[in-house]
Amino acid sequence: MKKIVIVGGGIAGMGIANTLADKLKGKAEITVVNKEDFYFAGPSRPLILTGEQNYHRIIRGYENVGVKGIKLVVGNVYKVDPDNRKVYVSESTFGNKDSVLDYDYLVLTPGIVFDGSKITGYEKYWWKNTTVYDPGRVNVLKERLWSQNEGTVIVYAPKAPYRCAPAPTETTLLSHTILTHRGVRQKFNIIHIDANDKTQPPFIMDLVKQTYDKSGIQLVTNQEITEIGEDYVVTSSGEKYKYTILAMLEPNRAPKFIDEAGLGKGYVDIRSPQDLRHPKYDDVLSAGDAAKLPFPKNQEIAFESAMFAANKILEMEGVSEKVSVQYAFVGWAYMGNLEGKLETLSLQFQMDLTTQPPKPTKDPQLKRDYTLQKDRWEQAYLEKLFGYKAI
Ligand SMILES: Cc1cc2nc3c(=O)[nH]c(=O)nc-3n(C[C@H](O)[C@H](O)[C@H](O)COP(=O)(O)OP(=O)(O)OC[C@H]3O[C@@H](n4cnc5c(N)ncnc54)[C@H](O)[C@@H]3O)c2cc1C
Repeated sequence: MKKIVIVGGGIAGMGIANTLADKLKGKAEITVVNKEDFYFAGPSRPLILTGEQNYHRIIRGYENVGVKGIKLVVGNVYKVDPDNRKVYVSESTFGNKDSVLDYDYLVLTPGIVFDGSKITGYEKYWWKNTTVYDPGRVNVLKERLWSQNEGTVIVYAPKAPYRCAPAPTETTLLSHTILTHRGVRQKFNIIHIDANDKTQPPFIMDLVKQTYDKSGIQLVTNQEITEIGEDYVVTSSGEKYKYTILAMLEPNRAPKFIDEAGLGKGYVDIRSPQDLRHPKYDDVLSAGDAAKLPFPKNQEIAFESAMFAANKILEMEGVSEKVSVQYAFVGWAYMGNLEGKLETLSLQFQMDLTTQPPKPTKDPQLKRDYTLQKDRWEQAYLEKLFGYKAI
């Protein structure tokens, strides 16, 4: 029986685990290692700010995938040894002891980590920073937006690629919505500082800029934040901006154990978007945000790359049946509600990555229905991957 170890039980990891559990029924032992005993979905996290999303709808436990024979090990993977086919996992509250797992195939899908270590002052003033990117900090950001009565909100996007291209724009416009709703917007400046020459994804920037202009939001592009202090940030041009609320996304990278194992600097090296094996090891594959893909880091790409990785394992195992997949996605960016109603409107965009150059399209009309559509899309993924609906 082949042993398949998948590091990271998120969108890509669970996509591969479910697919292989179906196609290799009884012929492989599939183990997912995840550092928590639950998964917290990303796309609608920003709506926690306005109260339009609740934690219980976007958190899933793993128990229902156990029914399919998928094994779960809860613990942090801190080392992999591809020459000796070993994965090192720390102890967890789930009852797992420190352990070393052997594998025939290793799939690396741990997503990304936030790395502010190159920003001066980050170590001292980390607590001033919030983002919509993780469960604790989004809640702190919510509390700050709903309790402060005057000041400056600074939202920051680092150099692309980073996870979820529009999330900094979403944070900016949802901050505007909340402050307008509370009747204190006139007492706040809102500034979006972007390290890129355009807000991301670039092909929606025209509509983002129009909406920012209507809302009195200042946009600063091509500026990296190089320093944070207790109430200010400094950018690469030496400009200083004062803040009272800071929502700074740190530069992203894959977890350190990947670099330490010689599997890639920044992200995991792969042969191509269709062949996600590591260039040096036939038995090490990667997918999702951790893989060095030439595409935006989002849920659809994570899932599609996972299907390509699953197909490669099936091919290596001599299974002729494949999953049908191609690189293309539909996305929705939350654009807030300029009147301050807690009913977010969204922009819909699409990107077909099968053509060269890739073909982006968008609907210039912001719609409430797109917000609801994004929710249905996210819920459908969670049900498919974790085996149950939120009540
Ligand atoms: C705020 C936010 C908004 C987003 N909005 C959108 C959107 O609108 N549209 C869209 O398509 N995508 C969006 N995304 C992006 C999308 O969620 C990610 O691209 C997708 O989840 C990537 O899948 P993944 O499997 O690579 O990583 P993840 O889904 O993050 O899964 C990685 C898993 O690995 C685990 N893990 C990490 N390190 C270790 C370790 N060392 N040991 C063990 N386990 C580990 C993690 O706990 C996690 O469960 C958003 C993300 C966020 C955070």
